[in-house]
Amino acid sequence: MRVYKIAAIPADGIGPEVIAAGLEVVETLAACDGGFRIETEHFPWSSAYYLEHGHYIPEGGLDRLKTFDAIFFGAVGSQQVPDHVSLWGLRLPIAQGFDQYANVRPARVLPGVKSPLIGGEGIDWVIVRENSEGEYAGNGGRAHRGLPIEVGTETAVFTRVGVERIHRFAFDLARKRPAKHLTLVTKSNAQRFGMVMWDEIFYEVAADYPDVKTDRELVDAVTTRMVLKPRTLDVIVATNLHADILSDLAAALSGSLGIGPTANLNPERQFPSMFEPIHGSAFDITGKGIANPVATFWTAAMMLEHLGEDAAAKHLMAAVEAVTAAKVHTPDLGGNATTADVTKAVCDYLRARKAFEPRV
Ligand code: ATP
Repeated sequence: MRVYKIAAIPADGIGPEVIAAGLEVVETLAACDGGFRIETEHFPWSSAYYLEHGHYIPEGGLDRLKTFDAIFFGAVGSQQVPDHVSLWGLRLPIAQGFDQYANVRPARVLPGVKSPLIGGEGIDWVIVRENSEGEYAGNGGRAHRGLPIEVGTETAVFTRVGVERIHRFAFDLARKRPAKHLTLVTKSNAQRFGMVMWDEIFYEVAADYPDVKTDRELVDAVTTRMVLKPRTLDVIVATNLHADILSDLAAALSGSLGIGPTANLNPERQFPSMFEPIHGSAFDITGKGIANPVATFWTAAMMLEHLGEDAAAKHLMAAVEAVTAAKVHTPDLGGNATTADVTKAVCDYLRARKAFEPRV
């Protein structure tokens, strides 16, 4: 029996609702498979915890997390805590502390889901986001606060090591997909140092991947291409900030923010990787029981794939697609199903097709 230790950090807003749903389907899947099981430990780190204790992650918290096989994360962000405090207090210390430099965000229109875009059913992308440096390196400062001469700086940091490893990761991923096509996205017309270096290193790395087709776009131009010619894109590699923005657009174009998954990978596996839905806390629907759990289910499938449970991951995605095709949709997709309805439908499907190819 293969056993995986999962650290669950549901955190804020709809995070606890979707993580509970995600764990329910993974438990159901494990029971059907019979070959693996998960041992989950819940961590209460959240904005409420911060307001009570003065910190998100307690002393020694990251050392405890290190012992897990994967981290299953909900969402962080609260109306009582400034966003930059919550983000830098919880999610970024884990992603950066565990060198999860490859953030992988697939976007696809699932069966039964309608894209807001004409021709949107052609969307089948993976956005690879640099996740350890760039615009989110934390480099900057404030001086002369409150005075007319106040100054704030925010300096993006790009290193050769950081840029080369994300390009290699993106090429390796593109190589495994049928289209074998990678689009480089930067802003190297206006930003002539770090961005130009990105472009140069991309083409150096490209020489090792002659089988992968490449092209490039400026970040502003790629937004129009995503909307007007979605089929011409396959894998996109971009910086921390650019890819953050593009992946929200991609999730919305594929039907809802409630669908898009994310993997924050430490590809060398020196540290656990972290898996989370793209969406945030979504206060407007928190506690109403109508959060779409599909993003979290897809995220769970990515986690299982990372753990080596490929057959289980495929089985889970087949179940999710059967349920979206059957129009068991939450209100964000135009339906009236609850989180619990969608979760039950997926679990029922998994149980009904109990026997599936076990892992070899
Ligand atoms: P953040 O600033 O952390 O990205 P946010 O709360 O500002 O978070 P999101 O949570 O990402 O923004 O989502 C914006 C809106 O999209 C939400 O207010 C909600 O209406 C909708 N939404 C997001 N996720 C879901 C979901 N899983 N199910 C249904 N609707 C969702």
